Amino acid sequence: AKSEAKGQHRFFSADLYRQLQHRLDTERELAAAIEEDQFIVHYQPRVNTHSGELVGMEALVRWQHPEKGLLYPGAFIDIAEASNLIVQLGEVVMDKVCAQLAQWQAEGRALVPVSVNASARQFDEGRVKDLCIRALRRHGIDARYIEIELTESIMANNAQQVFEELRSLHEIGVPVHLDDFGTGYSSLAALHKLDVDVLKVDRAFTAQLGAAQEGEVFFSAIVSMARALGMRVIAEGVETPQQLAVLQRLGCDEVQGYLVSRPLPAAEVVRFYGQRTLP
Ligand code: C2E
Ligand code: CA
Ligand code: CA
Ligand code: CA
Repeated sequence: AKSEAKGQHRFFSADLYRQLQHRLDTERELAAAIEEDQFIVHYQPRVNTHSGELVGMEALVRWQHPEKGLLYPGAFIDIAEASNLIVQLGEVVMDKVCAQLAQWQAEGRALVPVSVNASARQFDEGRVKDLCIRALRRHGIDARYIEIELTESIMANNAQQVFEELRSLHEIGVPVHLDDFGTGYSSLAALHKLDVDVLKVDRAFTAQLGAAQEGEVFFSAIVSMARALGMRVIAEGVETPQQLAVLQRLGCDEVQGYLVSRPLPAAEVVRFYGQRTLP
């Protein structure tokens, strides 16, 4: 048994070594990819639950890898977070989104706001407001066309810093969405203090709609709470007409998910402008 345990130890070490090596390789590749401008942004439409009208889009980063093809955030975002490269990547994404908005504006389209995901790291450094201002100015975009999505996990580090950063975003007119809502642990008091404009309910809860009654109870409680606090509610990950029907009945404001559209390259998402797209 002793030698077995020893063998196991060696096995884990080799495994850990490979993991570490993979992380270091990806980190190095990521840094180079930022330099070489290999990132692109896809846009997922968000529509009004009742009218089906396009009301916004979410910017989702992709890595156009020269050998591996198109990589999704699952393949690199954790490593970007851990290495702090997420701060640079966040700047890249914000700049690309504002450049895209400027292009659509030049094409004479009636813009809808684009929400950009921000990581806790960016809030730690207190640079989210400056990041927005720089990109908005560079491309001549009004602040109301950018929204910031953040998760409750940002509260874990420096809550006071986060409150101040959120206040400063409001001062410049950038709305804030609380992403993956329902998966974190923030108290109602924290939620109230956070002063966010929109609750974006995690798709794990959307997935329960139509199946169990509890799923509906949870969602309808969120909708009434949001009403009372003056917030809007977005359901993420809406995939079926049944889920949509429940969300319409519960009075959820906006929906996003494969039922409407997958995230799309900018050139393809434009077809949603001025459309009503619910089944
Ligand atoms: P998220 O912010 O919760 O984004 C929603 C994810 O759900 C996206 O995955 C989207 O493609 C996917 N999704 C949308 N509708 C549906 C649906 O109906 N069903 C299912 N099953 N999935 C759906 P994606 O693009 O792979 O992004 C994953 C995560 O990576 C995002 O989760 C976000 O946390 C992070 N991320 C993406 N772009 C950025 C970025 O620019 N900056 C930062 N910091 N994080 C980003
Ligand atoms: Ca998001
Ligand atoms: Ca989410
Ligand atoms: Ca997420």
